[in-house]
Amino acid sequence: MKVGNRLTVYIVIGLIAGIIIGSIFSPMADQAWVQWIDQFVFNVVGQIFLNLIFMVVVPVVFISIVLGVVGVGDPKTLGSLGIKTIAFYLTTTAIAITVAIIIALVLQPGEGQAELLDSSEVEEYRETELEGETGEAIDQSVDETIINLIPSNVIEAMGTANMLQIIAFAIFIGISLIAVQDKAKSVIKLFEEANEVIMWIVLAIMKYFAPIGAFGLVATAFTQAGFGAIQQLGMYFVCVLLGLFIHLLFVYGSVIKFIARKPFIWFIKGFAPAMGVAFSTSSSSATLPVSMETAQNNLNVKKSVSSFVQPLGATVNMDGTAIMQGVATVFIAQLTGVDLTIMQMVTVVVIATVASIGTAGVPGVGLVMLAMVLTAVGLDPAAIGIILGIDRLLDMTRTAVNITGDATIAVVLNEQQIRKEEKEKSARQS
Ligand code: ASP
Repeated sequence: MKVGNRLTVYIVIGLIAGIIIGSIFSPMADQAWVQWIDQFVFNVVGQIFLNLIFMVVVPVVFISIVLGVVGVGDPKTLGSLGIKTIAFYLTTTAIAITVAIIIALVLQPGEGQAELLDSSEVEEYRETELEGETGEAIDQSVDETIINLIPSNVIEAMGTANMLQIIAFAIFIGISLIAVQDKAKSVIKLFEEANEVIMWIVLAIMKYFAPIGAFGLVATAFTQAGFGAIQQLGMYFVCVLLGLFIHLLFVYGSVIKFIARKPFIWFIKGFAPAMGVAFSTSSSSATLPVSMETAQNNLNVKKSVSSFVQPLGATVNMDGTAIMQGVATVFIAQLTGVDLTIMQMVTVVVIATVASIGTAGVPGVGLVMLAMVLTAVGLDPAAIGIILGIDRLLDMTRTAVNITGDATIAVVLNEQQIRKEEKEKSARQS
């Protein structure tokens, strides 16, 4: 079974149908029958799809990383792959925020809109979000983040889908399987066979459920979108979309063309099904099984590279999110009448890049990190309340960019590895 062109077309049809029907329903969102359809049709099919893919995330990540490490076979090569992956991720994220800041400085989405700061959403955000979970998340210090990379309880790490902890544990298991070699042959075989089974489930979910599930998720998001809010925040919305588009086309386009030396159209066409799923779910983590499968089958990324680079990226690399944060910070500064200094802008780039590490790829988490960025440059995090209402639509788009960034780096590292192996082969032959 393979994610083919026909399935991509079905997913795209599901997305477009969801956007159209959701947009038609949106102005009538307060009517009882619309709420009924939204709750019992759109939401039910959407959530079932979401649960189905979340169901396989932890086993997929765990099994494939163990196999990835065993496949690489040498902890040193693994180490250098890890360092390169992180370096690429941090660089693209820093570029993403810089692009976003420039766009917002040029287009000035927040000029002359100071009255937005007096809206009730700002106070609501201060009272509910900043005192609740968001506040706790911001309070997590750097040392805690580092300590928490190692799970003290593996079952808990899996139960809470803590990706970095699962990755760490899987790497340990993988390395130990290499170390004990022949004594654990059947364990390796078990992982290989389990991988076949779980990937079959991923494909079955995609084939039978993705188009209708994507439809449900998008339809409910657009029904509840509140298009009135978009009108008021139109310029902010346009700036984020523009940043995402430029980053996708120029940054990923150049990386694929000039570093991986592959056609960008081939890349986008091959990866489209995963982008569609990311758009509908707004979650890099949930999309992970699909993005790995698409990268391996449609973009020919080796399992050993894909299963290491992409799960790491789903947590660590969020370029789309960084673009939203760059635009939002400048936007909120403009509303408040604050001229950000160069130093403050550099702080935004650094904090947003660092903050993206260790934050799970789930819907809306970008705003939690934004609160941290705003606090770092002395802006009021409660101003996030203004953009909260329209964030879901942007979350969909930026999540698609987030996972495309991971796949871009996977393709690059895969090509580099292939070239290295070819060089070694020809050196051996001559
Ligand atoms: N939803 C995004 C993701 O999962 C994160 C965010 O920007 O909120 O990648």
